[in-house]
Amino acid sequence: MAKTILVVEDEKDIANIIIFNLERNGFDTLEANDGPAGLKLALECAPDLILLDVMLPGIDGFEICRQVRAQSQVPIIMLTAREEETDKILGLELGADDYVTKPFSNRELIARIKANMRRFSELPAAEEKERASGIEIAEESAAVYKDGKPLDLSVREFDILSYLAAEPGRVVSREELMEKVWGFEYYGDLRAVDVAIRRLREKIEDEPAQPRYIITKRGLGYYFAKN
Ligand code: CA
Repeated sequence: MAKTILVVEDEKDIANIIIFNLERNGFDTLEANDGPAGLKLALECAPDLILLDVMLPGIDGFEICRQVRAQSQVPIIMLTAREEETDKILGLELGADDYVTKPFSNRELIARIKANMRRFSELPAAEEKERASGIEIAEESAAVYKDGKPLDLSVREFDILSYLAAEPGRVVSREELMEKVWGFEYYGDLRAVDVAIRRLREKIEDEPAQPRYIITKRGLGYYFAKN
């Protein structure tokens, strides 16, 4: 059964894009464009997850979060316009589960939604099976194991690894990685790709300076080696 996501966002253009992408990813949606409507839908319609803008007319996202959390454990992801708002989200113990800072890519948002729904789900994770040696990527649970032990990767690191490993041996350019992983809305410096790869290597490689999983093809990009 499709999960229902409540989108509380007063900027209509942003709300439309989010809803379009949620529905394209198989979610049902509810929409509210101000604080009071958002709070009412959150409490009365029992959505499976709430995407909650911070600055809203009527009642702000912080207050909605507080009131919803007093009654429900539904996962709440705050949509923040500025980095500094994250301090408040993390500091005030509002009960939000996660946040994304605008502008975010659709891929990032969907990954966060899935991760938060998974965390919330009471179903036992289907991760009891024996793990093989080397790197194993469990796409369903967005988990990565190395020699049977789970690795703590960020969503972006997971996306990079998963994208490269989907076609071992194929060299992927930094431009392609930026487009597929960061999303077309992200107008970033390509060096962000190199930085992310370096962090990823520190987590998955025995010797990051001499990687055996993610290999650099000088001047062309990166590829995942079959081990
Ligand atoms: Ca707003």
